[in-house]
Amino acid sequence: MAKQLGFHVDATYCAGCKTCQVACKDRSNLEVGQLFRKVVMYENGEWAMVSGTWRNNVTAYYLSISCNHCADPTCVKVCPTGAMHKREDGIVMVDQEKCVGCQSCVWACPYDAPQYNPETGKIGKCDLCADRLDQGLRPVCVDACPFQLISAGDIEELAAEKGGTDWVKGLVDPQRTQPSLRINPPKGAMTSPVGREKK
Ligand code: SF4
Repeated sequence: MAKQLGFHVDATYCAGCKTCQVACKDRSNLEVGQLFRKVVMYENGEWAMVSGTWRNNVTAYYLSISCNHCADPTCVKVCPTGAMHKREDGIVMVDQEKCVGCQSCVWACPYDAPQYNPETGKIGKCDLCADRLDQGLRPVCVDACPFQLISAGDIEELAAEKGGTDWVKGLVDPQRTQPSLRINPPKGAMTSPVGREKK
């Protein structure tokens, strides 16, 4: 199998501080309203009557999400100019010269990763800090996390080393794009395929 870079996120201990989000936004010099990485809070659970007593399994957790450099990326499939493309190492990139700002990728991506910039009329998104990787450095989100919960690298190696799943409740069915993402799930997160949600 060809090399496929991606992210591992240990959401078990994520405190939702958004340092990764801020570092990414700063590095990419993004305007207000644009995020290439975002920390979202997901709420889950319900109340139920058990043996005459109301009980709950309610939980809430944070997920740090960016482009997942999917193995089967819908953004690449729908791009009419070839601007959205995959490098040999699996990183999904936007060629700014070819991008015409049609936003087909914005509608197609189930992870809300591509961001339209009205100033430039072009699309931008996480490129896994490819320029930094090419210099032997880590992506800024990886460096910034105060708990060192984000890792980048070959997704198979990350999965073997750190485990994790490609789906927790709150994300779409990974069969749609085969995201290069592994998450160590937060406490209380549903990870069973049963009841997987489709966006
Ligand atoms: Fe494309 Fe979205 Fe997958 Fe990134 S997360 S590769 S933008 S489909």
